[in-house]
Amino acid sequence: MPALLNPVLDLLMLRGTVTEAEPVAARMRRLRIEGGALAGLTVRPGQQVRVLVGGALTRRTYSVWRHDPAGAVELCVLDHPGDGPGARWGRAAGVGDEVRLGRPEGSFVLRPEAAHHVFVGDETASVAFGAMLAALPDGARISGCVETETATDRLPLAHAGRLDWLVRGGSSLPEAVRRLGPAPGGVAYVAGEARTVQAVRQVLVREAGWDRRAVLTKPFWAPGKRGLE
Ligand SMILES: Cc1cc2nc3c(=O)[nH]c(=O)nc-3n(C[C@H](O)[C@H](O)[C@H](O)COP(=O)(O)OP(=O)(O)OC[C@H]3O[C@@H](n4cnc5c(N)ncnc54)[C@H](O)[C@@H]3O)c2cc1C
Repeated sequence: MPALLNPVLDLLMLRGTVTEAEPVAARMRRLRIEGGALAGLTVRPGQQVRVLVGGALTRRTYSVWRHDPAGAVELCVLDHPGDGPGARWGRAAGVGDEVRLGRPEGSFVLRPEAAHHVFVGDETASVAFGAMLAALPDGARISGCVETETATDRLPLAHAGRLDWLVRGGSSLPEAVRRLGPAPGGVAYVAGEARTVQAVRQVLVREAGWDRRAVLTKPFWAPGKRGLE
């Protein structure tokens, strides 16, 4: 990156350094990023950051898996078959690398007051779900369906035993949600591949009678599209 850009980027983005990089599931790496600029950040469970992942100011969006107000965020990056700049960055990032990232943002966040919480999504969505689930007490009513390519792609989530885990190629997520049949009255968090998100939303709203405002949706990626946000 041309040195000339550094002062501009310092104004626009936060700077941190990778201090831990390790596999957290078969195709998912956890990256811990620390830095003085990250101290005191407020992160609501489910929020994301935009990370500079390549030249030409290429940015990609990642949910905050964990956050330490003393000055650290942790991300989990999927090594997906599409092989874009984000996946390449996630694969190659190592301890000591400098990272530029934006402030936490987004409204796809936990609604702690909900009577029950329904989580539906794929590998990428399960990162945001991890942060949300970790913020829920043992007494919370939790259900949902998470689909991964193989069982080894499952992230270690809090309350994981209360979720239905699917392997791609069997029941689809909309079918699994139809079978789960969650009763309206709570909040549903639906994220991952764009068309699947829409299909699951339709099952909840049209078939299960959910109020559309109680179904929070967030497309994280779509086949053939680059960097959705
Ligand atoms: C709010 C939000 C939060 C997100 N949180 C996370 C997160 O925590 N962890 C994470 O890994 N990703 C997350 N994503 C998705 C991540 O930003 C995309 O996977 C990323 O854009 C892919 O970047 P890329 O440069 O590798 O591929 P791109 O250049 O964006 O895409 C290239 C091609 O790869 C394919 N592709 C992209 N993503 C996937 C995928 N997941 N599975 C299969 N094929 C894919 C598509 O065909 C696409 O056309 C999030 C996205 C959003 C919008």
